[in-house]
Amino acid sequence: MKEMLSGNEAIARGAYEAGIKVASAYPGTPSTEILENIVQYKEIDASWAPNEKVALEVGIGASFGGARALVAMKHVGVNVAADPLFTLAYTGVKGGLVFVTADDPELHSSQNEQDNRNYARFAKVPMLEPADSQECKDFTRLAVEISEQFDTPVMLRTTTRISHSKSVVTLGEPAGGLPAPALERNPAKYVMLPGNARIRHRFVEERTDRLADFGETLAINRVEMRSTEIGVITVGVAYQYVREVLPEASVLKLGMVWPLPAGLIRRFAAQVDKLYVVEELDPFIEDQVKAMGIPAIGKEIIPICGELTPAILRTAFNLPQTATTEPERLPGRPPNMCPGCPHRGVFYTLNSLKAYVTGDIGCYTLGFMPPLSAMDTCVCMGASIGNATGITKVVSPEERQKVVAVIGDSTFLHSGITGLLDMVYNKAPATVVILDNRITAMTGRQENPASGYTLMGEETFQVDLAQLCNTLGVQHVRTVDPYDLADTKRVLQEEMARPEPSVVITQRPCVLIKREGAFERGESQAVDFEICSGCKACLKLGCPAIIWQPSEGERGKAMIDPLLCTGCEVCAQLCKFSAIKALR
Ligand code: SF4
Ligand code: SF4
Repeated sequence: MKEMLSGNEAIARGAYEAGIKVASAYPGTPSTEILENIVQYKEIDASWAPNEKVALEVGIGASFGGARALVAMKHVGVNVAADPLFTLAYTGVKGGLVFVTADDPELHSSQNEQDNRNYARFAKVPMLEPADSQECKDFTRLAVEISEQFDTPVMLRTTTRISHSKSVVTLGEPAGGLPAPALERNPAKYVMLPGNARIRHRFVEERTDRLADFGETLAINRVEMRSTEIGVITVGVAYQYVREVLPEASVLKLGMVWPLPAGLIRRFAAQVDKLYVVEELDPFIEDQVKAMGIPAIGKEIIPICGELTPAILRTAFNLPQTATTEPERLPGRPPNMCPGCPHRGVFYTLNSLKAYVTGDIGCYTLGFMPPLSAMDTCVCMGASIGNATGITKVVSPEERQKVVAVIGDSTFLHSGITGLLDMVYNKAPATVVILDNRITAMTGRQENPASGYTLMGEETFQVDLAQLCNTLGVQHVRTVDPYDLADTKRVLQEEMARPEPSVVITQRPCVLIKREGAFERGESQAVDFEICSGCKACLKLGCPAIIWQPSEGERGKAMIDPLLCTGCEVCAQLCKFSAIKALR
């Protein structure tokens, strides 16, 4: 049977066919839909972990218990999971373990553009890279088999274009006859004390040599001989662009990008007049090919930044553009928080208080955008609190009072807890605002330990954030309704003035949560044109439901789109003329 599947859907199907028993992840674009699709396969225990390190540790546990496991995350998540990864490379596995890294060339939804092929080489674990959805499914199963055959975790790298594009996939049957999970005591393999780890390091180096030999004849490292004028070594989605732009070129398509098959590369290079390496981001393959003494052209003509496209390849190879390769010119649409977003009023208030805001990763990072313009730093998940602590160590006592760290509920649970513990322990007098909207909103409303539900939809323990902060040693924890601007401002002012660490939890559910009773829509608001003075105070919120009508009256007037308005009434609190009222 055949189906049209995205790369992420195909990896989920591949996990099912590979007999994966445990899957764990932290949501992050472009990897999120892998676990969301795995949920349909009831044979697999799928769960959101509070962060990527924990996700990998859960996968490792399942593997040590003898079951096949998959963990998934976006590229920056691998930075969080790197600690267990590097030691897992030494312990190896029992049940096969696939570790998906979904990279994001072009930074469609990320804070950097790192090329995680470097992680495979650095951690000394093999990496496979599919070029379409069929390969996403097939490589997932192959990765599990290689994992068990070579006693190693196997990384599966996708990129945004592969994760989200759909292509035809032939479905297969799930693997049968797998051994039942069981406890096995083998401390020499699984306890990485120095004495054991030294022995395992030698094993890791020998394993890399064996994998390189294995790659020489592995079917997914494939030579396609055509004209010998041009030969291209390529991988992943770049393979599709090479086939489209250079249909006559001979191609060495690598499915395993680490370790590389040196013999195969040498033989291919010897058969072509001119050798190119076409790959996105870093010259990962190119540098290794050149280090083998093989002349090749790569980053001299292929950009090192951003996603490749057929148009970029045409330019690189001095080929004329075709009508279909010209990008469509669409109107620019700056990102914005949703109408009724509970974070909007908080950022409006922080701006009005002239706070120095250390921000974090989530949809609330949009607090950086005008007109809210209330975020001064943003580095990585969980960094806001440590950044605030660091800043308070160096600025004057007056400036210290302005420092506010802002972090979402999911991000706080991901990696903010330790930052807050440090802030309390080291007596940094900053205020932390936890924007608690009861969901992991940015990646598409995934459950987390504060939401009260698991990925499988079961009710579960719901962490009490205020109690958690108290337990971490915060003496001053206050909860406010962010829809109440006056109260939010009063509490923020009081806590910012306090020369001690404090936490303000702003609690309102995300307007997009569909679960019954989570978010209640209020009465849509409307502007009374007779009363509106055209002062533009309501526009300072940047709510997409508020439209400016420049031709109305002498100064123009505001208007509210009743379809977009969720009735949060935050704009009404800003209108000194009481022109904004419920629509009757
Ligand atoms: S704040 Fe009130 S008076 Fe001013 S533009 Fe908006 S609706 Fe009109
Ligand atoms: S009440 Fe005002 S701020 Fe809230 S969603 Fe409607 S227009 Fe936007």
